Amino acid sequence: MDLALTTDELAFQAEVRGFLDEALTPELREAGRLTTSAFSEPEYNRPWQKKLFEKGWVAPSWPKAYGGTGWSEMRRAIFSAECARAGAPSLSPMGLRMVGPCIMGYGTDEQKAFFLPRILAGEDYWCQGYSEPGAGSDLASLQLRADSDGDHYVLNGSKIWTTHAHHANRMFCLVRTKFDGKPQQGITFLLLEMNTPGITVKPIITLAGDHEVNQVFFDDVRVAKSGRVGEENRGWTVAKYLLEFERGGGSAPGLKVALGRVRAMASAEASDDGRNLLDDADFRARLASAEVAVEAIEMTEHRVLADLAGGRNPGPASSMLKTQGTEAIQAIDELAIDAVGAYARVDQPFARRPGANVAPIGPRHSVTAMPRYLNNRAASIYGGSNQIQRDIMARLILGL
Ligand SMILES: Cc1cc2nc3c(=O)[nH]c(=O)nc-3n(C[C@H](O)[C@H](O)[C@H](O)COP(=O)(O)OP(=O)(O)OC[C@H]3O[C@@H](n4cnc5c(N)ncnc54)[C@H](O)[C@@H]3O)c2cc1C
Repeated sequence: MDLALTTDELAFQAEVRGFLDEALTPELREAGRLTTSAFSEPEYNRPWQKKLFEKGWVAPSWPKAYGGTGWSEMRRAIFSAECARAGAPSLSPMGLRMVGPCIMGYGTDEQKAFFLPRILAGEDYWCQGYSEPGAGSDLASLQLRADSDGDHYVLNGSKIWTTHAHHANRMFCLVRTKFDGKPQQGITFLLLEMNTPGITVKPIITLAGDHEVNQVFFDDVRVAKSGRVGEENRGWTVAKYLLEFERGGGSAPGLKVALGRVRAMASAEASDDGRNLLDDADFRARLASAEVAVEAIEMTEHRVLADLAGGRNPGPASSMLKTQGTEAIQAIDELAIDAVGAYARVDQPFARRPGANVAPIGPRHSVTAMPRYLNNRAASIYGGSNQIQRDIMARLILGL
């Protein structure tokens, strides 16, 4: 595999760097640096999305006909690596990477014409209503019922762990429209507005003290059937299509940034005798092992890129990358906790707000080390837990 960039690709990289230098305000950069969960708060990711939209770079993976960039796989990889390196706020994937492709694949012409431009421009903020209190890994057992009533469905039940439901104005959602037969064959994919009467959003506060996820209750909620994507009872096919997008995407650039942060923390924490954590053999061995894991992830991501460029589906590689990527970030977070030592225990919510101008207690990174560690425990659960990913690999790679 030749990893060297071509002259064209180097010129493209320079163009991206130039744009990021100009477009990323200090506040947006700070927001990116202080993000401790899967993606930034809408207060920051929406203005950033607007700038990318105006530049025409908001949806690198979309077909050009729908507003994508028409970039090669390599250019897309360069773009996302440069965004990670520059500390750009991470965009919400719910519209651009999740429901958008589903609407392209399964929506009506009216749905495409209405929703896709709004997703690109960031006019709507979406949330994902898949999981329920009794349906997570076993998603097909979901029970939110949708009874047919003329040209509407009437929804009753609840969704849980709904990220940013308190910010979203729209939800894409899986509902049950048939109660007998195989569970997968009675599910329908619906788009709905969060301000529809009968919807209540209740916060779930995470261990890190953040309000990111929610439980959403549906009480006789009327949703027009025109919001259905695909046929009634065929939502499982649409849902599975979407999960491929949820699990995709390169993580090596972000992991490298996180590793660089840990190295900086470990070398800064010098004691009286001038020694620092990098002089500790155990810490150094753990850091080296994380670095090797990240190198391996990067090589696998390049292999996937080569497959995609050659028109081959990477198949179970997305499960492999999800498992490896989430385990690597958890190992890096543990190193970061060790590097900031006792300061990791000090909760500093105010110092975590961009522009707050509050001096942290302890080293600069102590503000984010513990929230990142706690939030990233969830990374091996959401988007399909790592145990489930291992089951997929066992079946599809090992043939068990
Ligand atoms: C921070 C966060 C954000 C989330 N955001 C969203 C969102 O926006 N929208 C949404 O719909 N959902 C969201 N989720 C939900 C997420 O997708 C589920 O938590 C996940 O699918 C696991 O389901 P569960 O929590 O019900 O756990 P369970 O399915 O009950 O699993 C519990 C444990 O059992 C293991 N297990 C279960 N079945 C098997 C099996 N067959 N073989 C081996 N082990 C198994 C699991 O791996 C896990 O360790 C989010 C979750 C988190 C933590």
